[in-house]
Formats: sequence, structure tokens, C-alpha cells
Amino acid sequence: MQISESKRLFAHAQNFIPGGVNSPVRAFRAVGGEPLFIKKAEGAFLIDEDGNKFIEMINSWGPMILGHNHPMIKEAVVQAMEDGTSFGAPTAKEVEIAELIVSMVPSVEKVRMVNSGTEATMSAIRVARGYTGRDKFIKMEGHYHGHGDSFLIAAGSGAMTMGNPDSPGVTKGTAKDTLLAPYNDLDAIEKLVAANKGEIAALILEPVPGNMGLCLPKQGYLQGLREICTREGIVLIFDEVMTGFRLAKGGAQELFGVTPDMTTLGKIIGGGMPVGAYGGKKEIMEFVSPAGPVYQAGTLSGNPIAMAAGLAMLNHLNTHPEEYARLNHVGELISDGIMAINKKLGHNFTVNRLGSMYSMFFTDNEVYDFESAKHSDTGKFGKYFQAMLHRGVYLAPSQFESLFLSTALTDELISKILQAHEESMIEIFN
Ligand code: PLP
Repeated sequence: MQISESKRLFAHAQNFIPGGVNSPVRAFRAVGGEPLFIKKAEGAFLIDEDGNKFIEMINSWGPMILGHNHPMIKEAVVQAMEDGTSFGAPTAKEVEIAELIVSMVPSVEKVRMVNSGTEATMSAIRVARGYTGRDKFIKMEGHYHGHGDSFLIAAGSGAMTMGNPDSPGVTKGTAKDTLLAPYNDLDAIEKLVAANKGEIAALILEPVPGNMGLCLPKQGYLQGLREICTREGIVLIFDEVMTGFRLAKGGAQELFGVTPDMTTLGKIIGGGMPVGAYGGKKEIMEFVSPAGPVYQAGTLSGNPIAMAAGLAMLNHLNTHPEEYARLNHVGELISDGIMAINKKLGHNFTVNRLGSMYSMFFTDNEVYDFESAKHSDTGKFGKYFQAMLHRGVYLAPSQFESLFLSTALTDELISKILQAHEESMIEIFN
């Protein structure tokens, strides 16, 4: 594969951008080699600066659920551009998208738009603290809630990949209010709650975590958390930045029938533009300024171009349930295909999947939390990543990420992915 232009750009970028990238995992450090610089994307494909074409398996880390450059979203953006790019004042589109989100996501009675998932989670914790008058919150090991200080403790995603799940720069004072628990372990939560009685404002988690690779909640786990939080007056926050509008139109909370008090959203909600949101029960959201005393603001929040893209995306998903059936089918074909090939080749690697999210871990132990995810052979993953890339399939450049499939993947492309998988596995185990 010829990547001279990407190599040139990467070398040049390092003079001006830390590590040459604007988000760490993009640098490919966990998988070796150098990152590809992307020129354009269309449907199921990414095209790099050297003209190489790749089948997309991460879709901008989740947002592009309908594939890239979808005509309907492009048209909405182009139309919105005609009226100006930012006003810093309320717009009709913001009301429309808020009403739509409230109708789609079970826990959301009121919602505030922000510019990223990070902003959404930071703000949600602040509101939960303001609402309860308590300081501490519980976070699960290996879950990622963006790069807000209080979340960079045993964090998943890039923090885990880069080997610094506890980032320098987070003060001891901040860290002391973040209580850590293993995912999928209700007893651990009971113990933490008992040891910090009346002091915990919130429990935040990815209901279906994708940032230590994809893990699934054990039967009754989310319901159990709901019961503990209700009993203890703790605000239960589902971080559905990844799972929102992906696992179902109402996210994981709809799929599992468990309604949190607050929800954070991102990725798909902006149709590929920088958008996040947090919402929840009216009585909690009424604490947000100017309705209430908890301050949170944003110059570009509710940006009209971003709202137009998000509205087009959400309206489509809301009115086309068949997209979810297709996403599930795509996920099933790929994960079943991978498991069948692995079996034929004598491997028993764990494949976790839900709908259009999946991860293959290079371990045969069950993966259900941070510790079990760490058993994966990341060296093997790096080789697998490169082998797939050279066969034209673009995976997430880290073992500790979920893949995000799109409706643009045709059955023919899925066959190509599976063929690439078989060849790659043979190559790396030879
Ligand atoms: N929460 C979850 C569950 C995420 O997966 C992410 C990003 O991947 C975030 C929050 C942060 O979102 P953003 O990268 O938009 O700040």
C-alpha cells in the first residue's frame, strides 16, 4: 500500500500539533505504523490522501450510522448554510430537536445542547451535584466519559490505549470525589454506597460500555443500579454518547427497559457535526441556568448548522425503524462470520456484540469488565489491525474500542470484510 502523502503530512503535522493529531488514538500508536490522512469519505468508504480506499468499520467513532456524506444530511447542512453559520441566539431548530430528543429518549424530559460528549458529561455531573447538594460520584473502571478532569481516573478509550488511564494534571482534590467501581458488580456498588452514605451525588456509567472494547451488562445489572440509586437518592446517569440512537432509537435505556434520571448524548445526535446534549427529569434539569442556579453555557451551543445535521439524522432514525433491523443484521452477519472463521482456524477469541457495535478480543476468557478486557493480547491486535488495513478494511486503531457499523455496509462488502478477516488471521498466526 502506497502511503507517502500520509507519511509526509504526519511528519509535517508533528511540527505544529502535539503528536501530529488532534485526538490521541488517531496517531495509531497502539497498533504501530503511521496514521492515514483522510481526504474524503462516501457511504461505506474512507479515501486517504494517497487515494487508498477502505471499508469503514468505525464511522468517525460512531456518528456516521447511515454511512458517510449521506445526501439527506448533506442537503440539510447546505440549506442551513444559506442562512448563516452562527447567531449566538435561540433558533426554531433548537426547539425542534429538543422536542424530538424528548420524544425519542425515555429518560429525557428536558434537554440542553452542548458541543461534545465531554461537555455533556461534565455538565451532567455538575447538575447532579447541584441538585443533590453532594460532591462525590461513582464511575466505573474502564468507562470513558470524555476528558473532563474528574473522569480521567481509570478511564477507558484513548486513556487506556495510551497507558495513562489516570492522567497527570488531574489534582488529588478533584480525584478524591470520583469513586471507582468495577462494572457488572452490584455488590461493589452496595459497599461503596454504604461507605459513603448520603455523600454520593451521582452514579455515571456507559450502560453498554464500548470504551474498553464492547462489554455487555449482566442480566439484572442495570435494573439493580436503578434500584440502589432510587433507594439512596443518587442521580443515575447513563452516558449514551455511543449507544444513544444506535442500539435503538431510544438508546440502551429503551433496549434494556431501565430509565436513568439523566442521560448524556453525543456522536449520532450531530449527524457528524460537533454536538452533545444532556437531559433528564424535569425537576433535575430545572436546576440548569437560567431556569436554576447551576451554570452551564456555550458560544456555539445549538449551532444552526450542527442542529440542521442532527435534526436530519434524528428525524430519519425516528421514522425508519427498519434501519435498526438492518444494523442488527449487519452486526450479526459480521460477528457470526468472524466467529465461524475463527472456529475453522482453531481460535476461540471472545466476540462481544450488541446490534451494530462489536469487539473481538484476543483472549478466550469472557470479557465483561476492565480487568477481563486487559487479558487481551494487544500485540496481536496491532498485527491484526495492520493486516486488515492492508486488505482495505479500516478498524478502530485500538483493542479497547468498539467498532461501529453503518447501514451503508452491503452484503457484498460484508463478504469482503470476512474474507479480509480470514486472510488476516491466517497471516498473523503463521
Ligand atoms: N462518553 C462516551 C461514552 C464516549 O464514548 C465519548 C467519546 O468517545 C465521550 C463521552 C466524549 O465525547 P466527545 O469525544 O464528543 O467529547
